[in-house]
Amino acid sequence: MMTSFPITKFESIKTPFYYYDTNLLRQTLQAITDETSKRDNYCVHYAIKANANPKVLQIIKEYGLGIDCVSGGEIELSIKMGFDPQKIVFAGVGKSDWEINLGLENKILCFNVESIPELEVINDLAGQKNTIANIALRINPDVGAHTHANITTGLAENKFGIDMDDMDYVIERTRQMKNVKFIGLHFHIGSQILEMDDFIALCNRINELQTKLFAKQIIVDHINVGGGLGIDYKHPNRNCIPDFNSYFSTFHKHLKLQNNQTLHFELGRAVVAQCGTLISRVLYVKQGHQKQFAILDAGMTDLIRPALYQAYHKIKNLSSVEPKEKYDVVGPICESSDVFGKAVDLNKVHRGDLIAIRSTGAYGETMASQYNCRPLPESYTSDELS
Ligand SMILES: *Cc1c(COP(=O)(O)O)cnc(C)c1O
Repeated sequence: MMTSFPITKFESIKTPFYYYDTNLLRQTLQAITDETSKRDNYCVHYAIKANANPKVLQIIKEYGLGIDCVSGGEIELSIKMGFDPQKIVFAGVGKSDWEINLGLENKILCFNVESIPELEVINDLAGQKNTIANIALRINPDVGAHTHANITTGLAENKFGIDMDDMDYVIERTRQMKNVKFIGLHFHIGSQILEMDDFIALCNRINELQTKLFAKQIIVDHINVGGGLGIDYKHPNRNCIPDFNSYFSTFHKHLKLQNNQTLHFELGRAVVAQCGTLISRVLYVKQGHQKQFAILDAGMTDLIRPALYQAYHKIKNLSSVEPKEKYDVVGPICESSDVFGKAVDLNKVHRGDLIAIRSTGAYGETMASQYNCRPLPESYTSDELS
């Protein structure tokens, strides 16, 4: 299933904008549901920070996924969109009091707690409301993921989670607190992970930790392995749906669950990345001495991943079939890092051509900013344009 672009419709729309292929999104969600429905104790919480567009969320909701939030704003949006609070988990190293209160008032499934000071605040705030907060401890498993340094989160040196060696002590502390209930262990090792070995390493680590807990007669209800499954940025057509079968089978095969334990996943990128494309127009073709530039009306304010992580996105000229030439594809923002790709092969570019930047459904629109007083990009779905 390959995204096809309604180019004539695009001609009359103000650029830049995000285009979401809802058929692909539905097929991706179906592929996830096909896998998780094989096992009745698997629950996927969509990591809403990847894409919080209401049109996208509406479709995700149809498939019954829960939500993984990292802020109060995300909790508010999830509830407003009609997601079940009993399927909301809430992570983050710096939860504000109002955000914790919001989670408590909505009786979310679980707070993923990252430190003792946070635990104490949740206990206090839950006490003030005469309620009990379900908490999972986010443990830093010291498992490296083979991905970009800025998006690994599970190493001892990262700011996230509780050190493994402190786990026993923190569990002791939770058990002394009256308004928190310790229900699970949470992990998240990074993002854009394509090596199943990284997830196997995580499973092995969780098995070790569970064995230690078991020896103390502690069995938690809930194991949360986070998200991080990557996508194929190089081949958005050939591999438009991630290999969910190997992903879920890896956990099925390597993670030893105790009876009645539920297994939670927090997939973000893998759900939404391939269904999104940033569409922009060429403003100018500028000839330099060494190279030529295609200057777009989209910039790092619309899609910051290339500037922030040197991320690769496939770029295509939708308006030309003339022989290919090399271009540095850049935006109009006053920053040298406002570059989408260097020496990109594109069919000969002219002013006004439509340019597609692929695989931008995750961490695209949600990371857009108004730097340079630019308007935020609009969005359209394939349903709306068909
Ligand atoms: C960002 C994040 C995710 C989702 O990561 P993806 O790589 O998009 O799957 C899941 N869990 C937590 C705690 C996160 O911070």
